[in-house]
Amino acid sequence: MTTAATTATETIDTSKIKPVNPPHRLLMAPGPVNVDPRVLTAMSKPTVGQFDPYMFKVMGEVQAMFRTIFKTSNKQTMVVDGTSRSAIEAALVSVLAPGDPVLVCVAGRFGMLLKEIAERAGADVHVIERPWGEVFTLAEIEEAIKSVRPKLVATVQGDTSTTMCQPLEGLGDICHRYGALLYTDATASLVGNDMQADAWGLDIVTTGMQKCLGGPSGSAPITVSDRAVEVINERRSIEAGVANAGEIAPDADRIHSNYFDMAQIFDYWGPRHLNHHTEATHALYAVHEAARIVCEEGIDNAIARHALNGRAMSAAIEGMGLKLYGDQSHRMNDVVGVIIPDGVDDAAIRAQLLNDFSVEIASSFGPLKGTIWRIGVMGVNARKDAVLTCAAALGNVLERNGVKVSTDKGIEAALEVYGE
Ligand SMILES: *Cc1c(COP(=O)(O)O)cnc(C)c1O
Repeated sequence: MTTAATTATETIDTSKIKPVNPPHRLLMAPGPVNVDPRVLTAMSKPTVGQFDPYMFKVMGEVQAMFRTIFKTSNKQTMVVDGTSRSAIEAALVSVLAPGDPVLVCVAGRFGMLLKEIAERAGADVHVIERPWGEVFTLAEIEEAIKSVRPKLVATVQGDTSTTMCQPLEGLGDICHRYGALLYTDATASLVGNDMQADAWGLDIVTTGMQKCLGGPSGSAPITVSDRAVEVINERRSIEAGVANAGEIAPDADRIHSNYFDMAQIFDYWGPRHLNHHTEATHALYAVHEAARIVCEEGIDNAIARHALNGRAMSAAIEGMGLKLYGDQSHRMNDVVGVIIPDGVDDAAIRAQLLNDFSVEIASSFGPLKGTIWRIGVMGVNARKDAVLTCAAALGNVLERNGVKVSTDKGIEAALEVYGE
């Protein structure tokens, strides 16, 4: 796959530019995945103004549906406009004032991202680490909390870089016992794995659309507990241009970002609809339809579907004679890690998969770059024909490259998981 880089100095005859006409891909990397056609249709519906009563109705329904999906009764459940990391950044910069102690649990790329964002927020950042491919015990997180006494504990539920799913049940109680709030990044795990914001005591959970929610990248749902709202609102301010006389004037202690100021985003989504950004109307329609699909299916049925298809994909991989990566008892339901056999050219295999079968899978990052493949079984692609097509294509490409695998046995093993 060679693509000529477009440089700023290249001359392009703009009158000859054609409409976008992307190839049809089966996107089996851990995001983005194919957007459900119902979601694409929703995005083409008419634009309304941001203060149109219809807009408020859609916003309210999105809030209600995400309470169901996050399993929470949090009033402050909404969407941050931007990719998944926009909600991560909004959560961290709104809770953490410069100098505030935070404990970050790092066991992969996305834990490292939380650390970086907390550092940029000026927080006093403490880290506990686990090698990539492992998860933390709650006891070791508690030990660290005891010594750091953080304002916030930041975790990743499903760190897609390693395919591992961090157990969180019970961690909220531990954090609260020491006066800390608990944040988790559930971008790649929500809808694919069990996640119970209220029952597990999670104060802030954020996600994105392009993984198990089957929507387009660019919107980031978030839920915030009353306990966390109180902390965030300690630094609430109202933009000077929209405040009424005598209302909270901005001061030096306000949240150190305008775009990611959760207090202002609460006010925008709240009954006053106090103007902040311009809600991304068509992206919101996409969020609405994607959430509706999950609610129609039922959140627990959707999780079970991801688990079934993840099991079938794992069976296919092992059945054809490849090895799975990592502790399978902690694997995310929706991401399967595959050890790349010795001597196999990762990039060449993935290029052939894309060129010959239009199937995309991914490698990983950092220490796992080129050593594992990651196959996402997410959203609309968590279904039998997508799993079998991806497995058959991968097996065929490997066989043609002289790797000793049996595609047939892989497919048989997957079919057995489906009960056939
Ligand atoms: C995919 C992923 C993200 C992606 O963030 P974007 O800003 O949407 O690119 C963040 N966190 C985790 C755990 C992910 O798997």
